[in-house]
Parts: sequence; structure tokens; C-alpha cells
Amino acid sequence: MTVSRFADEDPRETWPVVAVVGRPNVGKSTLVNRIIGRREAVVQDIPGVTRDRVSYDALWNGRQFTVVDTGGWVSDAVGMAAQIAEQAEMAIETADAVLFVVDATVGILDEDEAVVRVLRRSKKPVVLAANKVDDPRTEAEAAAMWNLGLGEPYAVSALHGRGSGDLLDAILDALPNAPRERDDEIGGPRRVAIVGKPNVGKSSLLNTLAGRQRVVVDNAAGTTVDPVDELVEVGGTVYRFIDTAGIRRRVKEASGHEYYASLRTHGAIERAEVCVVVIDASEPVTEQDLRILSSVEEAGRALVIAFNKWDLTDDERRRYLTREIERDLVQFAWAARVNLSAQTGRHVDRLRPVIDEALGNWEKRISTGKLNAFLGRIVAAHPHPVRGGKQPRILFGTQAHAGPPTFILFTSGQIEDGYLRFVERRLREEFDFTGTPVHLQVRARE
Ligand code: GDP
Ligand code: GDP
Repeated sequence: MTVSRFADEDPRETWPVVAVVGRPNVGKSTLVNRIIGRREAVVQDIPGVTRDRVSYDALWNGRQFTVVDTGGWVSDAVGMAAQIAEQAEMAIETADAVLFVVDATVGILDEDEAVVRVLRRSKKPVVLAANKVDDPRTEAEAAAMWNLGLGEPYAVSALHGRGSGDLLDAILDALPNAPRERDDEIGGPRRVAIVGKPNVGKSSLLNTLAGRQRVVVDNAAGTTVDPVDELVEVGGTVYRFIDTAGIRRRVKEASGHEYYASLRTHGAIERAEVCVVVIDASEPVTEQDLRILSSVEEAGRALVIAFNKWDLTDDERRRYLTREIERDLVQFAWAARVNLSAQTGRHVDRLRPVIDEALGNWEKRISTGKLNAFLGRIVAAHPHPVRGGKQPRILFGTQAHAGPPTFILFTSGQIEDGYLRFVERRLREEFDFTGTPVHLQVRARE
């Protein structure tokens, strides 16, 4: 359950996004620290260790924006240029503007050139930072960065702060003025993201679902890079499958891959209305599975769990899986579930009705009259425990949003989280919210 006592929506959703890209050691993380004005981004990450925090809040001249730091990835030397290009590609996809960092004291390397090619193709606004210009003597080296063909290089010293004001001004100039659309692409086919850790069968499932149906590649979005979404007809209805390029592309396992895969997964979840999280039923459920499930819940998307590779499970494994679901997945007991096999096709046809049901519940609206009749009944039958001689009470409720259902409860006194969980459980029993998170917000009147 997500309980928010304050804002209706996270204002960050509408802030513009700046992605910081560049090869390792040019000073990206140091520069991110400089931009966000605190030492929060981690400098000198341990190679191979994935950071869970990649985006930071930034404020300059009264303008708020989000900085996405791609500095956490330390690559092997092998195939580095290609890997860095891929890193840049992932980050740029989700950004409104790109801050490209080069090391003025080293000059332009192949790895820098690889990023430049990606940046040119993306057509996103780029601000070029020539870093490590700690004193005026290095200015000439910074000027040599004009050769990259990306416009004016901003000479900065991330370490000492030199030039960072001008750089921030340039970043603000590069950002779009309008807030990000919160609900882009309203209408049209329903947006489905198939997500999950590597090798669970995402691409097999997509292929089985698409079957021999004509797969319509969608160019309408006007993307110049490879088309990321596909319109697929499933059982007579067309769905938009999000970021299928990321699913179909067999990215070689490489250091840092998981980190960018996770960025990509987050992007897909954000754009979807419903997420199908694929889990390999034949193997124990892992932390990574749980993290992906949590991301879906936090993003407030409808959730279907597909336990794939059912053909590989025997009775013992199924008994154990039941225990895992009760023990580790109890937080997602509200999710819709299907046991299937992408390979044999078993129960793949059950997925579509389950997706539709989850979407229907995600968009469900409960009238204020019905909601208050229900609240009145549970308040009478199960009053909130008395605290400090006072009896906190739910006075009135209303559904503020759908997609996911979000209820505002007006109360007297502070309602405890345990009681809110109870209310959520009863709401689910009464109105059936299978497959969707439910958000409860409290407005307390003392
Ligand atoms: P990243 O891999 O691109 O994120 O680079 P880091 O931020 O981890 O920096 C790599 C190294 O360069 C660290 O030792 C930093 O202290 C150093 N560094 C970063 N910015 C500057 C700078 O402006 N001047 C100097 N002299 N060193 C810097
Ligand atoms: P992805 O990385 O999540 O896209 O996974 P893939 O679709 O590439 O599948 C990974 C491997 O699992 C491949 O060898 C598939 O043939 C296999 N696989 C996928 N689904 C099933 C299934 O339902 N049963 C079995 N036995 N194997 C499967």
C-alpha cells in the first residue's frame, strides 16, 4: 500500500530531465554533485556495483529539474566505445536535454566520438562541458573541444566549481519551457510493458502473443532511432507493447548492462498503463524480481505477474512456489497472476483477459455515495482504536483519481497506518481492485 499524507501527485513527474553522459573518469559524478549542490552522488563507485539511486533533484535560478547520473558504471576496456555509446543512448531516450562531459586535460578519445555520434542522431539539445579546467592555463584545451561539432564547450572545474554557473545557465536554456506531459498518449491502444529480469522469457512471450498476427511497427511517434513500441493484435484487440526494441534486442551481457537494463525497465514501466512482470516459475524468486515488482507498484501501474516456464515445474517446485508467494510476494497479493509457458503456449491465452481485468480495475471509479456508505459501515463495525483518550475517525471519503484508484480520506485525528491497511483490505474486498495498486491519502482535521 502506498500511503501519502501530503501531495496528490509527485511534482517531480513534470520536471524536465537532464542526462549526464560521458566516458568514465571525466568527472560526471563530481559534476553532478556540483549541480545538485551536495555530496550525495557517489564518486568512485566499486566496479560492477549497481547503484539504486540515479536521479537527483536540482534547482537553479528558481527552476527545478531532475539530473540523471550515468556515472555509476565502470566498464571493462573491451568494447568500451560501443558500451559507452549504448549507455548514452539509454540515458538520452528518457531525457529532455543532455549534458555531455569531456575531460579537457585528456582531449578527445574514440569513446568520446562514439557518444557524439549517438548525440547527433538523437537530436536532443546538448550542452558540452569541458571539465577539469582548474585554472586559466587549461582554457585553450577546453577551446579545442569545439572540434566535436557540438557548439560551445563550457570550461568547468567540477572539483573547484569554476564555470559551473555559466554551465547551469546553458542547461536551463537547453531545457523545454513547458512542463513534461504527465499523461502523454492518452487514448489509442492500451499501453502494456513486458518487464522482468534477463532470461525469464520476455521475448518468447512477446513472440507467442504476437503469434502469426501481423506485427505492426509503429512509426507514428516520429522517432528517428529504432522503433521502440509495437502494435500487436491479441485476441482481436490491438495493444501497444512498450519498448519491444529493448526486449528483442539481444544485448550482450556486459559489465554495466544490468544497470542500463534497469534504467530501461523503469522507462518502460513509466510509459505503460499495465505491466506484465515475467518471473521464471522454475527458479526461486529473486531480489531482482521483487525490485521490479516494487517499481511497478511505486509507479502506480496495473500489475499482472506471469509465472513463465510452467512446463519446467514439477509438483515439488509448485509447492515451494506457493510458499514463496505467501512469504515473499505477500506485498503484491493484489496483483493479477497467470501461470503459463511461452514455449508450449500453455495458458498464454489467459493473459489477455487478465490484463483487461487489471486495466479495468485500475481505472475503476467508485461513486462518493457508495464509498461513504461503505466507509460508514466499517467505521461503525471496526472503529479506530482510542489513542491518548481520543478516537480518530474517518469522517468522509472521496475518490480523487483513477489509474490507479486514489482515495482521499478526511479524518478527525491521526489515523494509524495499520488501520489504513485494514481500510485498504476492506476496500479491495468490497470493490475488487485485483491487479491495481490503491492509494489512500489522509487529510486530518485536528
Ligand atoms: P566519472 O567516472 O565520470 O563519474 O568521474 P568522477 O566524478 O568519478 O571523477 C573521476 C576523477 O576525476 C576523480 O578522481 C575526480 O576527483 C576527478 N575530477 C573530477 N572533476 C575534476 C576537476 O574538475 N578537476 C580535477 N583536477 N579533477 C577532477
Ligand atoms: P528474455 O531474456 O526474458 O527475453 O528471455 P527469452 O525469451 O530470451 O528466453 C530465455 C530462455 O528461456 C530461452 O532459451 C527460451 O527458449 C527459454 N524459455 C522462454 N520461455 C520458456 C518456457 O515457457 N518454457 C521453457 N522451458 N523455456 C522457456
